[in-house]
Amino acid sequence: MSKVYSEALDQHLEVERHIGRIKGSEPGPCMIFFGGIHGNEPSGVFALNRVLEELKEQKVPVKGSIIALAGNLWALERSKRFDKEDLNRVWTHERVAALKDESFVPSNEDEKEQEEIFGIIKNLLETETGPFYFLDLHTTSSETIPFLTVNDSLLNRKFSQQYPAPVILGIEEYLDGPLLSYINELGYVSFGFESGQHDAIASVDNHVAFTYLSLVFSGAISAESINYDHYFESLGDLSGDFYEIYYRYAIEKDERFLMEPGFINFQKIIKNQLLAKNNGKPIKAAGNSTIFMPLYQAQGNDGFFQIRRVPAFFLRLSSLFRKLRFDRMLRFMPGVRRDPSMPGTLIVNQKIARFLAKQFLHILGYRNQTLDKTHLIIKNREMNARNEDYVHEEWYKERYITKPKQH
Ligand SMILES: [Zn+2]
Repeated sequence: MSKVYSEALDQHLEVERHIGRIKGSEPGPCMIFFGGIHGNEPSGVFALNRVLEELKEQKVPVKGSIIALAGNLWALERSKRFDKEDLNRVWTHERVAALKDESFVPSNEDEKEQEEIFGIIKNLLETETGPFYFLDLHTTSSETIPFLTVNDSLLNRKFSQQYPAPVILGIEEYLDGPLLSYINELGYVSFGFESGQHDAIASVDNHVAFTYLSLVFSGAISAESINYDHYFESLGDLSGDFYEIYYRYAIEKDERFLMEPGFINFQKIIKNQLLAKNNGKPIKAAGNSTIFMPLYQAQGNDGFFQIRRVPAFFLRLSSLFRKLRFDRMLRFMPGVRRDPSMPGTLIVNQKIARFLAKQFLHILGYRNQTLDKTHLIIKNREMNARNEDYVHEEWYKERYITKPKQH
């Protein structure tokens, strides 16, 4: 048992790795929720505990199974983000390979947590039938409206457009080793939800609303069995849209990074505006933009991001191109070659393949990572998508990616 404290609620909660688990009486989806992957974010743990208790108390009929897992228990007990390594940055190819062949030897508390969580995910994938949904509950250091962070696959886009909150695509291009990128590469629906500031009461309520809505959207419970309208409306921003990240300020190892006070998430910034300081030197905005996830805590190495809205036209175009598998022609183009070390991955020489702008590669479904000044390494996110697992689901039948219908 680990004792977790919520400053927002001024409450303690004793939890184990399984915060709760409900097995439905009828077949249905397998819903896997994570709370507290970051130890300073107890909101998700409290919310998941509340929802599962309520579902049991009110005897809400469940289809499939609902599994709520606590993330970094060691860190949660200490209200610390992590011990030595961020548990949301350790799911790299090398690490997962070592976990798979059992050659991995944990050397700190975070790695012990990871090994255990890996074992549980593996076991669930072997024993449950699915379709699987992995949802990761987080909070941010700055004030924010709730939003979803989504690896840009068509499956994820389709499912996530059901929520009345903005969807931020493409964070995986900037981060190495988040838990959900690993699960996405297995082809399942999986994304993150940031409910608000770490210690705000609203963050817990938003996590609760998100959890209920997710259960309804996947068909695990019916909208009629809960106070659906309340949760839908309370999540807020009905005009939610798709955004993409196009810039990340990475904090260097020995850098003393200090965000200027007062920035809130999704705030508009203007050219030359002072955003932060690096060892006392000013960091200014390169142009007009929207700031995303400004860092207001000591731990972490993403200073801030910048985002822009993705027009609906681009979303449709890219759905079409991806369905037509337009990308298959790509490897025959000049300046593009296969990466011999990683199947399904291409290396693009941007000097030769100038026409392949990052934006265009996004439309085709590629995740881009900069290899060096002239080369991009790209991998198609649709390659492993398990579309066949989801084809019979209600939400999958939606033809176009649009944002939530007003109810
Ligand atoms: Zn987090």
